[in-house]
Amino acid sequence: MNSSVRITFLGGLGEIGRNCAAIELEGRIVLLDCGQLFPYEHPGVDSILPDFQWLLDRHDDIEACIVSHSHEDHMGGLPHLFRHVSAPIYGSPFTVAMVKAKLESHEVKIPSLVSIEDNENYKIGPFECEFLPVTHSTPGGLMTVFRTPQGVILHSSDFKLDPSPVDGRLTDLSRVSEISEKEGIRLLLADSTNSESTGVSLSESEIGPVLENVFVENEGRRIIVGTFSSHIHRIQQIADAAVRTDRKLAILGPSMIRNVALARELGLLRISDGILLTEKELKSSKSDKVCIICTGSQAEPRAAISMMSTGSHPVVQIGPNDTVIFSSSPIPGNEASIFRIHNNLARLGAQIVHSGKLKIHTTGHGKAGELLALHEASDPELFIPVHGEYTHLLGHEEIALGRGMRQSKILRCVDGDSVCLDEDGLHLEKRVSDDYLMVDSRGVEVSKELLKERVSLSNEGFILVRVIVEEKKRRLLERPFAATLGWIEAEQADRCLNEIIEEIIRVLDGALLDGEFDKKELTRLVRRTMGKFVDLNTGRRPVLVPLVEIN
Ligand SMILES: [Zn+2]
Ligand SMILES: [Zn+2]
Repeated sequence: MNSSVRITFLGGLGEIGRNCAAIELEGRIVLLDCGQLFPYEHPGVDSILPDFQWLLDRHDDIEACIVSHSHEDHMGGLPHLFRHVSAPIYGSPFTVAMVKAKLESHEVKIPSLVSIEDNENYKIGPFECEFLPVTHSTPGGLMTVFRTPQGVILHSSDFKLDPSPVDGRLTDLSRVSEISEKEGIRLLLADSTNSESTGVSLSESEIGPVLENVFVENEGRRIIVGTFSSHIHRIQQIADAAVRTDRKLAILGPSMIRNVALARELGLLRISDGILLTEKELKSSKSDKVCIICTGSQAEPRAAISMMSTGSHPVVQIGPNDTVIFSSSPIPGNEASIFRIHNNLARLGAQIVHSGKLKIHTTGHGKAGELLALHEASDPELFIPVHGEYTHLLGHEEIALGRGMRQSKILRCVDGDSVCLDEDGLHLEKRVSDDYLMVDSRGVEVSKELLKERVSLSNEGFILVRVIVEEKKRRLLERPFAATLGWIEAEQADRCLNEIIEEIIRVLDGALLDGEFDKKELTRLVRRTMGKFVDLNTGRRPVLVPLVEIN
């Protein structure tokens, strides 16, 4: 039996999102995360996933999926994949609860779910696995130690080294050191997101007092706080600030309501029933005694804050007595939409507090100093930077080189790379698809061709021309019909369409007299005539829709 280990990266290397890797031994695959990426310039696309075809071709070989934590870039692809695959899913109790809720909301059959406690060991397929706690911006993150015939492989998960996390659950770096000393760590795969930021990240527990201070300074006003719905420790600190400043709490937005409920059930969030307001109670409460926690800090279009900013929220109308706190920082790509929301809220009279003004947010990803500490503790023989834009991966490589690792011990990988770990070291093997899968809000796949059409339509509009040919009489049955949307201004459009029709009549009359009745050829002629006219007269490139019928 071949004892080499193969790792195939299906996403997350060269982008923030859709993290997904397959670790393979003896023909059995353990999937490590299955995430999604949120697109921001793809009309009608809700989610970008790894190209799962390689996995689907081998779906009988999939032993399990380990979900390192409950962020969408690590578990958002599960509903799509698990429509076609069934294998146990492993994760911490919170992660597993979030996975279950996610699969249920997509009406996907729930596979066997295995809740892992910190520092537990499991045999998963051919791998002996050990799971270590990590601190991150959602509870229950787990580092995975894979014991293989090629030595220990350590996957860091998203992590930071917070000396004072809100729940006291530290990243277990001491166990990493112990494993390194006793067994040696052959290969490290580690998060690169903040490799280009120097120093160390701010502790989560430093955010609470700053938030509380904002609450104190805004006495007499209604407070609305937007944050990530999976950031349970932030929600805890917001709730604590509310309680200490004598406010009741309203939770708005379906994902926020669901995650708060899950976290309270699991004992991860301490909010007493007495301070929680229902939507109805919120309406009748004195607004200066209220704190609303909601989603939308990333300008997600259907989230509560976005709706409030356009005056379309069913319960909350923003006015001059509101302070809106953005306890988050913009995810790259969302900046413009977030600024638009800030402006809209300000126009409605609200005061805006964001992380650019005050320390009301900290990252969940370790910065260069923390990454270096992981390298020191694990002292790996080999290293592959994972999870990050391409420059983040290079930044992480610099950190490894900086502590004396040889370049030959670092493998630079991107999406689609398959690597083999054997007695001789790490080798790039064949590549699998680095393609991606786009799906809409219902989970239906959107092809690249369809997306291209949507982009063209949204940029340039379309022109439709319908022509009916009477074959027997070798002529057009009637004057062609033409219509357009989004191409040029309406007053100009009528004249242009008329001219296009005249030109098409002229061209087709000639072709029909010459005995051309092939539908494809006539369609081509109509399209060419439309294209020529459009190009010469407007220089634009609308989508052309020629329709030819032959009677
Ligand atoms: Zn994460
Ligand atoms: Zn992540």
